[in-house]
Amino acid sequence: MSGFNYEKDADGIVTVTMDMAGPVNSMSAEFNPLFKDTIGQLEKEDGLTGVVFASAKKTFFAGGDLNSLLATTPEQTEGFFNTLEDMKADFRRLEKLPVPVVSAINGAALGGGFEICLATNYRIAYNHKSVQLGLPEVSLGLLPGGGGVVRMVNLLGLQNALPFLLEGKKVVPAKALKAGMIHETVESLDELLPRAKAYILETKSLEQEGRDEAAIQPWDQKGFKIPGGNANSPKLAQVLMGAPAMLAKKTRGLLPAPEQILDCAVEAARLSFDTAMTVESRGLAYLAVTPEAKNMISTFFFQMNKVNGGASRPQGVEPQLTKKVGVLGAGMMGQGIAYSSAMAGIEVVLKDISVEAAEKGKAYTEKLLSKRVAKGRMSEEKKAAVLALIKPAADDADLQGCDLIIEAVFENIELKNKIIQSSENRLAEGGIWGSNTSTLPITQLSEAASKPENFIGIHFFSPVDKMPLVEIICGEKTSDLALAKAFDYTRQIKKTPIVVNDSLAFYTSRTFGTFMDEGVRILQDGAHPVRIDNLGKAVGMPVGPLSVQDEVSIELTRKAAETHKEMGVYGKFGPTEAQDEIIDFMITQNGRGGRYHGGGFYEYSDAGKTIWQPVVDKYYNAEFEISDQDIKDRILFRQVIETLKCLETNVLRTVADGNIGSIMGIGAPIWTGGFIQFVNTYGLEKFQARCGELAAKYGERFACPAIVTEKISAGETFQ
Ligand code: NAD
Repeated sequence: MSGFNYEKDADGIVTVTMDMAGPVNSMSAEFNPLFKDTIGQLEKEDGLTGVVFASAKKTFFAGGDLNSLLATTPEQTEGFFNTLEDMKADFRRLEKLPVPVVSAINGAALGGGFEICLATNYRIAYNHKSVQLGLPEVSLGLLPGGGGVVRMVNLLGLQNALPFLLEGKKVVPAKALKAGMIHETVESLDELLPRAKAYILETKSLEQEGRDEAAIQPWDQKGFKIPGGNANSPKLAQVLMGAPAMLAKKTRGLLPAPEQILDCAVEAARLSFDTAMTVESRGLAYLAVTPEAKNMISTFFFQMNKVNGGASRPQGVEPQLTKKVGVLGAGMMGQGIAYSSAMAGIEVVLKDISVEAAEKGKAYTEKLLSKRVAKGRMSEEKKAAVLALIKPAADDADLQGCDLIIEAVFENIELKNKIIQSSENRLAEGGIWGSNTSTLPITQLSEAASKPENFIGIHFFSPVDKMPLVEIICGEKTSDLALAKAFDYTRQIKKTPIVVNDSLAFYTSRTFGTFMDEGVRILQDGAHPVRIDNLGKAVGMPVGPLSVQDEVSIELTRKAAETHKEMGVYGKFGPTEAQDEIIDFMITQNGRGGRYHGGGFYEYSDAGKTIWQPVVDKYYNAEFEISDQDIKDRILFRQVIETLKCLETNVLRTVADGNIGSIMGIGAPIWTGGFIQFVNTYGLEKFQARCGELAAKYGERFACPAIVTEKISAGETFQ
């Protein structure tokens, strides 16, 4: 049978080796008939003693067919549900075969892949870090609807299954074994099939009862009880009482998938196995057509693959390996860049104004590595090896032979110009020079370089060791080779690169600026500051716009404004009166530069934060009327509009970069799938109309960008 190789050996064991068309096995249109035929054949097989499910691909099985999920419309919900039920009935037939069925897991088995494994009696995995196991559907706005929720609850018990289902936790075989998700591991791939067959033969020699048990799933055995009890047991009932509230606090009611999963999991611990299966299918059929799932699948799967796969990298340039990187400035950013580079095995020269200052920067890596060692996630030897890669320095001569130099010194154009000139001749042949500036235009900075084509912006986010995004900025003269080098370096240190064209504050900082600015404007209109922050969170931003300004510091906003004034570009993207006024009131009059500077819009103490009363006294106007929806839309639409302007003016080169950049760099709400994808599921016409309303009420900054009208006329969405 093409797609599934069916082979019976002399012991009566059938090995089904999945080898579907394309690079991976998946639940494509090819899958259902293949699986059904295979089960039919197995049911009829004479002298069958056992079955092994194996894979001819590098991964075991890749999971659901996201293309068809994405294309499923609300009208097709019933058909989707029926197909799902049909597939699950076949899974049920598999686990009801009268002989043991073993999955021989050679590579990743995630989502639908792990659901197949769960429908087999015994799971053996190759003990290797590439073998990831789990049910990550929640991260795409879905639930594991191929029996994953019900089988995990029956296997592990409700409480132990929930983290895997609600957080989509992926684990390596050793951890899966500990958690009870698999039964055995083998240390080499060669051992996998022989061990699977040997297990089947071992069960043959067991007493009748043991043999039966090996062929019957725990939940189909007489007297089966769910580990930890069913949903009505007093202990679980107590846990369950608090669970929805805890979940709502996390999702703020914006993500339907975790709620559905919790619901289905509780039903799995309450209803009969087969009834719970149907509830689960209904749950997935419901989720699959929600805008949230469409947004998350588009952005977190398809666009993320595009971005990481190099869609914005110049084609035709050979892969570029960075072996030695120079980091100038061992402050907050430089020390994080040094850490991330050394963790990827890259030699680092960490330079500051003195060796002592550079040593201090290196101590940051030491601290992070010690934590890893203490948690058992790294050996002392590995820690020593990573530390040995970082050389603290105060002399440019140490930069000799670097493939890449990244500067992270103070945000000062003269200083940056000076260090460009003093260090660029130390670069290896073909080496490039990158700036981590957050506000200075790359083209202007590159004028100090003797080869501006080798100059590029490499904008990290703080804290560098945790933040997964890097915004790469091309100046007017930046060459394709320089871009390819910066891109490949970013992938080398396992971060996600978006590529943008040069513009004041690039893409992320510029759009983030509108988030803070709109918060200030709503405050100045008269809304209560705490209400503004709460509604910012209610729309899905990680923190409210005023709180966030306290965190990044109002002082930084002031400094950036000063720099832009000196450069003659202040106000380039719109009126600045709101910002000027708040800087004057908060900093000039009251010395409140933000949390780090002793307080800002809020007062901070060990007990938490409270609003700083004078800000309420100054701005809050009880008579000012504004709906919650208007506040939420002002916060969200400002950022969406700015993003569209960046796309329109080619600051953003692709939709994918805008969506990924907004989620990972700005904190765009997950449910939107990013600030551009938001418009697709909101509806372009509806978006245009809402912009019109907001513009009429609150000002021209809400005018709908022309690119939306163009898309509407062309009958397109943003792809
Ligand atoms: P920082 O003040 O923590 O560190 C700057 C370091 O540069 C200091 O250790 C200083 O001693 C060193 N330095 C000064 N002159 C030097 C010289 N001539 N040679 C070598 N080292 C020198 O600053 P930071 O927050 O790490 O920011 C650095 C850069 O990164 C700035 O351009 C900033 O705009 C940018 N940036 C900052 C953030 C952030 O969140 N802090 C985010 C993105 C980008």
